[in-house]
Amino acid sequence: MGDKEDPNDVRPKDGESLSGEMCPFCHTPNLTLTEGEVEVPFFGKVFLFSMTCSNCGYHKSDVECAEQKPPVKYSLDVTCEEDMKIRVIRSSEGTIKIPRIGSIEPGPAAEGFISNVEGILQRIKAQVEHLRDEEEDEETKKKCRGMIKKIGRVMWGQESVKIVIEDPSGNSAIISDKAVKGKL
Ligand SMILES: [Zn+2]
Repeated sequence: MGDKEDPNDVRPKDGESLSGEMCPFCHTPNLTLTEGEVEVPFFGKVFLFSMTCSNCGYHKSDVECAEQKPPVKYSLDVTCEEDMKIRVIRSSEGTIKIPRIGSIEPGPAAEGFISNVEGILQRIKAQVEHLRDEEEDEETKKKCRGMIKKIGRVMWGQESVKIVIEDPSGNSAIISDKAVKGKL
C-alpha cells in the first residue's frame, strides 16, 4: 500500500526500533516494532507505534496522545486549497467521515497516523480508486469516477466538503481554529 509513503504523514525523527520479534500472524521472528514521539504544534506530544512483519507483510500502526483526553468529535469545513495543510491526527479507533464521499472506519486493520487534510483525501481517493478497479457494475464504476473527480476539485479548492472525526479514545484531532470540537 502506498499508505506508508504518504508525504503528508509525519513520522518521528528518532524512533526506536526492535526487530526479530515474534509475529502474531505468521509466528516467525520477523516482526519489527518501532516507537517514537512527535511534538505537534498547538496540540502536544503524540506517541507513534508501528509493527511490521517482513515475512507475511503484516502492518499495524497507531497513535496515542501523551495527555489522556475524553471522547471527542471534530468537524471541519474544507473550503480552500490552504486547508489541505491542516494537521489531522487519527488513532485506530477514530472514524473519519466525509459525507457523500467516503469514510475511514476503525477496526483490526485500521491505521493510526499523523497527517493532514490532503493525506485524508488521498487515502479516501485510494479507497474509491480501488473500488472502481474491482467493481464489475458499470453504474458503480461511474459513481466512483465522479467521486474521484470531486475529491480532485476539493484538493484544488474548487469545491467544499465537511470532514468529521469521531474518536471514543480521544486520541484523534483536527488542529485548526476552523475545526469545531464537540463531545461524542
Ligand atoms: Zn508475520
